[in-house]
Amino acid sequence: MAFERNILLTGGAGFIGSHLVRYLISRYPNYRIVNYDKLTYAGNLENLKGLEEAPNYVFVHADVCDAPTVDDVFSTYGIDAVIHLAAESHVDRSIANPLAFIDTNIRGTAVLLNAAVAHWRVAGHYADHHRFHHVSTDEVFGALGDTGLFNEETAYDPRSPYSASKASSDHLVRSYGHTYGLPFTLSNCSNNYGTHQYPEKLIPVIIKNIVAGDPLPVYGRGENIRDWLSVTDHVEAIDAIFHQGVLGETYCVGGDNEWKNIDLVRLLCKLADVELGHPTGRSQSLISFVTDRPGHDHRYAIDASKIKNELGWKPRTPFHEGLLETVRFFIAQFSPKR
Ligand code: NAD
Repeated sequence: MAFERNILLTGGAGFIGSHLVRYLISRYPNYRIVNYDKLTYAGNLENLKGLEEAPNYVFVHADVCDAPTVDDVFSTYGIDAVIHLAAESHVDRSIANPLAFIDTNIRGTAVLLNAAVAHWRVAGHYADHHRFHHVSTDEVFGALGDTGLFNEETAYDPRSPYSASKASSDHLVRSYGHTYGLPFTLSNCSNNYGTHQYPEKLIPVIIKNIVAGDPLPVYGRGENIRDWLSVTDHVEAIDAIFHQGVLGETYCVGGDNEWKNIDLVRLLCKLADVELGHPTGRSQSLISFVTDRPGHDHRYAIDASKIKNELGWKPRTPFHEGLLETVRFFIAQFSPKR
């Protein structure tokens, strides 16, 4: 079968990647999705269960730093577009072991960029359907005070090894656009929540510990503020940018949904107590303030006007609805099996 597009999607076994793979496979049956993933601790093929037999899905178990394999995959599958999500993604791990972040997030991105240029550029030109979409984070912009919003013009000021490695990858993508004419788009998104997230990030950790009756760790006094967006809304934003985004442009993606960590944890406690039939307040009594993360950014928030006005995207998932689905998913995952 000849496919309309052959998309190399990296990191498709992870949290956001697995939602994106499922979405693209069903929404675009004429596209072949080549999911390229190393299956680190954060990648899990269970997230993609049921897709194995889909005629437009291929899984490649490999490292984005492995240039010969990336090259081979471009040739074998006639890759004409890349959506790049593979990354080391957890700030705390980047503080403990920055080098893994430098390897995957910086070198791995450069390997993919090299392959795209080598395979796509003919006599200095690219075909209309060639596109490299890079998925990045709002953490590259640093931290906000109590007011203000990040937008596409905000200067980069990364402050953790994770955000510095993602900032480097963003710069590399833009530099390949300027130097080699690579057709690219880039998105910087705020915190995602949803099902299938590895239980090291705030929301799944809190639900896991509620189910186990363990202390609920909250950094500092829980005053840090994050903007939360449903992973399904992020996936729709990536779709919009991949198909309609102007080449060479960046789009900031966010949920207009700021929460102090402590307030979000209290809300999770309330929702989980109802679901678990606990007496009101049971889970809140487990909240335990722990030593703050070194260099913990105070606040992130996004002005997503550009993608809303130019591409017609907006977040569609009501927060309480999306959060409740997420709470139910993780309660089922972490409850002892009968
Ligand atoms: P994740 O940690 O859940 O998944 C990362 C995936 O990449 C895993 O499947 C892992 O196996 C794979 N991977 C890691 N190193 C690899 C390598 N060397 N070669 C091939 N595959 C490798 O991450 P996520 O939360 O789904 O984030 C995906 C992307 O979105 C990342 O680039 C991240 O920076 C970005 N992002 C995440 C958020 C968020 O809130 N989670 C927000 C904005 C942007």
